[in-house]
Amino acid sequence: MFKTLSNKFYDIKNNFFSSGKINEKNIQDGIKAIEEALINADVNFRVVKGLVKRVKEKALGEELIKSVKPGDQFVQIVHYELVELMKSDDEERLPITKDLTVIMMVGLQGSGKTTTCGKLARYLIKKGHRPLLVAADTQRPAAIEQLKVLGKTLGEQISEERGEDFEVPVYSAPQDPPPKICKDAIPIAKENNNDIVILDTAGRLHIDDALMDELLSIRKKTKPDHVFFVMDSMTGQNAFDSAKIFNEQINIDGVVLTKLDSDAKGGAALSIKEVTGKPVKFVGVGEKLDALEEFHADRMANRILG
Ligand code: GDP
Repeated sequence: MFKTLSNKFYDIKNNFFSSGKINEKNIQDGIKAIEEALINADVNFRVVKGLVKRVKEKALGEELIKSVKPGDQFVQIVHYELVELMKSDDEERLPITKDLTVIMMVGLQGSGKTTTCGKLARYLIKKGHRPLLVAADTQRPAAIEQLKVLGKTLGEQISEERGEDFEVPVYSAPQDPPPKICKDAIPIAKENNNDIVILDTAGRLHIDDALMDELLSIRKKTKPDHVFFVMDSMTGQNAFDSAKIFNEQINIDGVVLTKLDSDAKGGAALSIKEVTGKPVKFVGVGEKLDALEEFHADRMANRILG
């Protein structure tokens, strides 16, 4: 994960800041190299410019030249700025405070939405919850069956782990419009004694008005407590525009970045908060149900800086 960027930062540390002899030119050159590394990692251009400006001001202002360990101090400055870029105001990933919590997952087709619904269900079951999965992606016919399989597999996994029967119910009603499916799922969850409802909504290959209208209607009818935009970290700069539009039109609470296991670059993780104003909450790191991690800005900065 993020190999390119962490290798590059490693080189920069060694090339520019390893020796005791450090001067303003070293710093300027090191910062230039960081700028290039971030741009090559597909970090949003505006984000790179802001970060570089802040690092430069601090590095030159903190009198690195006179510092005993200028390299370490420089890395600390970069670390701080990376954390600031990515951090969430509330450290709690997914606060559950009500008897019934509704989580709405949105995103483009292929982003990993359905898979992430299953992963999130597992994450919540591990915390003692009883989720109901709702198959409201009627756009992609295979999505309903896929969610049912995920629910069944997850139920079997948990039953085996606990040594007692555990079911992960999946509600589907393919004949109904998605807003009705989602609305109807709520009393069903209450009856079933589920305390979480996870809505797997439809995506499209590209954003269109019909999709946004459908999602807004679901939002209005179900009043979700959390709306997460599922984003494929491999889709590069275009994904930022989609994230922005989803946020402007649907008002998301956070982002789940998927496929980080195949993402050597890391641009999305570094850009999304600055671009949308909404933090990354979770990351997908594989296809399996347990391949979901909480996103922590400081840990990510550590990974990048090596
Ligand atoms: P949807 O159309 O948004 O519902 O996307 P799917 O959930 O069907 O996922 C699309 C593909 O991405 C599937 O082959 C998933 O197995 C894969 N996928 C989803 N999340 C991850 C992830 O975190 N890592 C990897 N490597 N693959 C993922």
